[in-house]
Amino acid sequence: MSFDYDLFVIGGGSGGVRAARVAATEGARVALAEEDRYGGTCVIRGCVPKKLMVFASEYPDAMEDARAYGWNVHSDGFSWETFGTRLNAELDRLEGVYRNLLSGSGVTTYDARATLKDAHTVSLSTGEEFTAKHILVATGGHPVRPDLPGAEHGIVSDDIFHLDTLPKSILIIGGGYIACEFACILNGLGVQVTQYYRGAQILRGFDDEARGLVAEEMQQAGIDLHLGSTILEMAPTEGGYQVKATNGTEKVFEQVFFATGRRPNTDDLGLEEIGVELGRGGEIVVDEYSQTAVPSIYAIGDVTGRVALTPVAIREGMAFVETVFKGNPTPVDHELIPTAIFTQPEIGTVGMTEEEARAREPVEIYCTSFKPMQQAFAGRQNRVLMKLIVSKANRRVLGCHIVAPGAGEMIQLAGIAVKMGATKEDFDRTCAVHPTMSEEIVTMKTPIRTA
Ligand code: NDP
Repeated sequence: MSFDYDLFVIGGGSGGVRAARVAATEGARVALAEEDRYGGTCVIRGCVPKKLMVFASEYPDAMEDARAYGWNVHSDGFSWETFGTRLNAELDRLEGVYRNLLSGSGVTTYDARATLKDAHTVSLSTGEEFTAKHILVATGGHPVRPDLPGAEHGIVSDDIFHLDTLPKSILIIGGGYIACEFACILNGLGVQVTQYYRGAQILRGFDDEARGLVAEEMQQAGIDLHLGSTILEMAPTEGGYQVKATNGTEKVFEQVFFATGRRPNTDDLGLEEIGVELGRGGEIVVDEYSQTAVPSIYAIGDVTGRVALTPVAIREGMAFVETVFKGNPTPVDHELIPTAIFTQPEIGTVGMTEEEARAREPVEIYCTSFKPMQQAFAGRQNRVLMKLIVSKANRRVLGCHIVAPGAGEMIQLAGIAVKMGATKEDFDRTCAVHPTMSEEIVTMKTPIRTA
């Protein structure tokens, strides 16, 4: 049977674009359909604009510190409009880069919504239909609001980049990556931030000591964080929204921001109708090669509900091409993925938390917390944390957790050692880089506890 294409990719985000490009470079005839902007969540409404907002939000502290260092600094305040104009120009530029990468590698693009008609046929919203030997679903996910009265008035992370003005006050619901990052960003930009998290401590799943320090630092920075509390209902009122909470309070906030998780984009794609299995959260069920229950259909990235991180989607895309177009079956390696949360201070983490490790085997915990030189000199009380979890049995470093400015940069490098299986003694043999914060990671001599 002859097909119009060897590969049809649905979704032009990080994973889809990478898979399309690399398959085309291998000589495959590739098409890609995207209904929105190229670049997907990461480039258009996630990692990239978020990180630029993190940078913007750090200047007030930097300016204050600069004064302590002898600079005569004067600011006329922050202009959301100026920042937004530059941000949008940058996103336009990046979208252009993505489009050029696709056309440059010979991928045919369709600016249309695609749905599946059968195991080898894609229908586009333009009315066109194409057949393909393989179909790759890389449609990503979207933020969800909880089901409660008035929730439709709240914003989600997609909306935050398009606000005409910054609110004076905001209530953020949730305690995950997005809630905590935006609490810090908006606080830094001068918004009065309140955060409600239903659990006992924010950033569930991360190392307890690390999340405890971040929560403390966020509170010290002025974020009004309420644990064990969440919203019951909200309704429009003068100056914003009246919010009833589980802690018995009723308060008015100019905006309410739901950072209550994301859901895979699998609705109305025709997946189940043709036999693709979906999980309870709406995610596409795939095997270790990203293959679905329909052999010609594969799925990668957030839509599979595995690990919702851009670099993981890209690796899944690369492994898919290796498997399907290079005849080299390659399972995706989801072990020991380093990651960073861009709170202020950041968390950089790789491997097991102390809680996970001690439940599994006897461990030694090496941990230090201190005031970093740069901020301490400026009179700040902020602390950083460096922590290693070490297996007693084979001395391997099972987990590394860093809470510090720049922790995301540090953990990328520590992640190599941990992924290589480095032992505590390998860390010890490595000479310190002085004076840095991260030198503490190779100078911790005595465990603070064993378990
Ligand atoms: P998360 O799943 O990380 O967090 C969702 C939060 O909302 C949790 O605290 C959850 O509470 C809470 N929640 C869920 N439902 C409700 C509800 N009905 N009422 C009240 N609270 C609720 O999702 P995010 O949206 O923050 O992020 C999604 C994913 O995106 C992340 O897991 C991550 O993979 C990725 N991401 C990565 C970033 C990075 O690499 N820096 C940045 C941003 C996102 P509970 O803990 O009790 O379930």
